[in-house]
Amino acid sequence: MGDAEKKAGYPIHSHDVVIVGAGLTGLRAAIETVNRGLDTAIVSKVHPLRAHSVAAQGGINAALGNAVADDSWEDHAFDTVKGSDYLADQDAVEIMCKNAPAAVMELEHFGTVFSRFPDGRIAQRPFGGGMFPRTCYAADRTGHNILHTLYEQLVDREKSENANEGKLTFYEEFFVTSLVKVGDSSFEKGTGKGERCAGCTAINIADRSLHGFVCRSLLLATGGFGRLFTRSTNALINTGDGASLALRAGVPLKDMEFVQFHPTTLYGTNILITEGARGEGGYLLNSRYERFMEKYAPKSMELAPRDIVARAIQQEIEEGRGFEGSYVLLDLRHLKEKKIAESLPGIRLISLDFAGIDPIETPIPVQPGQHYSMGGVAAGNDLATELLGIYAAGECSCISVHGANRLGGNSLLETVVFGKFAGQKIGKASPASGSWDRNGAEQAVLEKLSLEDVRIKALLRRESGVKMHSLRDELKKTMFEYFGVFREGKKMEKGLEKLLELKARYPEVHINNKSPLFNQALISALELEGLFDIAEAVARGAIARQESRGSHSRADYPERDDEKFLYHTIYRLKGGNPVLESLPVRLGKFPVKERVY
Ligand SMILES: Cc1cc2nc3c(=O)[nH]c(=O)nc-3n(C[C@H](O)[C@H](O)[C@H](O)COP(=O)(O)OP(=O)(O)OC[C@H]3O[C@@H](n4cnc5c(N)ncnc54)[C@H](O)[C@@H]3O)c2cc1C
Repeated sequence: MGDAEKKAGYPIHSHDVVIVGAGLTGLRAAIETVNRGLDTAIVSKVHPLRAHSVAAQGGINAALGNAVADDSWEDHAFDTVKGSDYLADQDAVEIMCKNAPAAVMELEHFGTVFSRFPDGRIAQRPFGGGMFPRTCYAADRTGHNILHTLYEQLVDREKSENANEGKLTFYEEFFVTSLVKVGDSSFEKGTGKGERCAGCTAINIADRSLHGFVCRSLLLATGGFGRLFTRSTNALINTGDGASLALRAGVPLKDMEFVQFHPTTLYGTNILITEGARGEGGYLLNSRYERFMEKYAPKSMELAPRDIVARAIQQEIEEGRGFEGSYVLLDLRHLKEKKIAESLPGIRLISLDFAGIDPIETPIPVQPGQHYSMGGVAAGNDLATELLGIYAAGECSCISVHGANRLGGNSLLETVVFGKFAGQKIGKASPASGSWDRNGAEQAVLEKLSLEDVRIKALLRRESGVKMHSLRDELKKTMFEYFGVFREGKKMEKGLEKLLELKARYPEVHINNKSPLFNQALISALELEGLFDIAEAVARGAIARQESRGSHSRADYPERDDEKFLYHTIYRLKGGNPVLESLPVRLGKFPVKERVY
């Protein structure tokens, strides 16, 4: 941990850049800021190798053309835009897809052990939405491989004495509780009203001490908010903290109503069964043993985009063609033992360990579950947010490359392409010296620390009231039931009402564990407060969007309505009250069309 000055009883850490999050986005950004000589801190609520990125299974998209020679970044961009139901900003998609081949080659040079074709080239398999073998993979443990590679690139530098490199400090198991800003007129040309980043406050989870971080640039790389829903493939830590931190600091969120439900999560635990399983040739069966995707996407079948396959499964289940009223089957038996062992070893282990079945002999029971957050902190193609000095990238951000529905394999790509650009952009924007008012920033951080202290002590002092876990469970159930795979106006209004009732009970939340040491209950209670912010943003955005587009499917408005809704939803707090605004989608070379699969 870096040297800290103690002020007003709080340790204060000063760095050029603070990166909140040590998943692929945060680590990739840090390589750039350190290379540019910036003193960089990575703050993460878990050890870097426990970020959710480690769980990514199926792969990362890049038009390398190794499997089929005539692939191109333009085709990749078209598939992405079409998959997004035309809500993605086409210039952002272009940046991502153009840079994909170089990003994958760079990872390979860093040391990622990609699976190979027999001739030694990086192997590629088809994923949903493209039906094209464009997804590079490391068996079904792609995220694990890439995360370890990037971490290896950085651990060395923590102790590096290379004078050209910036210092790097990891703050592991530090939970960021708020962003801090400071007014500084010199940073907003001529208006005299500029506010900018001053730093953040965090709890050291090991001993509950409060720490202040002072920095001129801060990157949010905090991942998604899957744990807002009962059934989710996400790690327990995916509580969307970055979105609520940003919202409370005055930064708007974008397109929060678009939540991806993955078609195939293991029945019972909702652990992900990668799309790679269908990419390798696995297919779906209902309780009549029909390949029901014929009805929903006759051309693409199981490799239609996730929103379409998830809805198809849910419809089969709701119309009585599921097993035990809850799941359908994913059949891999015809792939045979060798293929499964080579390309899907993790899926076989998950099925054996968590369902007691071997997919070589028995189909896997699957059902849709929340998987990805397309919406997030509103950021531009340069990863800057509305607040000077605050950047956002990766799953916590919305820039937007995924629009209304993300294609499998594009999220890992987003993390490394835009993580790198974020680091480069911060490197340019944050010279080691300059006119930033460090003392003013430190003062603002100290003031925030004392407020955070009061908030946390009040929570710990409460001896009775609402149990944190039951309130959290009710919130998650409400979100899944009212804002799940299928949505409907009146039902969502009821859901929002319920949500606000639950939110009103938050101030009574109490936890039994008062220990200062690794108090996970305290962290969960703080996460829960942020989850309520996010839930409201999802709910209000979903109610206002009176159309069906991508993952947002409304029974009362079953058609896409480009005239009224080909725009992004911007959600912000003004004087503490939620406000919805809209932002036009940046179209480009691909004309808006119907999505046929
Ligand atoms: C099971 C699963 C499989 C997937 N498979 C694929 C795939 O095959 N291909 C693909 O393209 N995508 C896949 N995805 C999606 C993809 O893995 C993620 O979108 C991506 O890895 C997110 O990376 P990230 O760096 O943005 O965030 P994460 O990896 O989620 O990291 C977030 C970081 O933020 C930190 N953090 C959060 N809040 C705080 C706080 N308050 N204080 C301090 N630190 C904080 C966490 O500690 C963590 O280090 C998968 C997702 C899941 C859940």
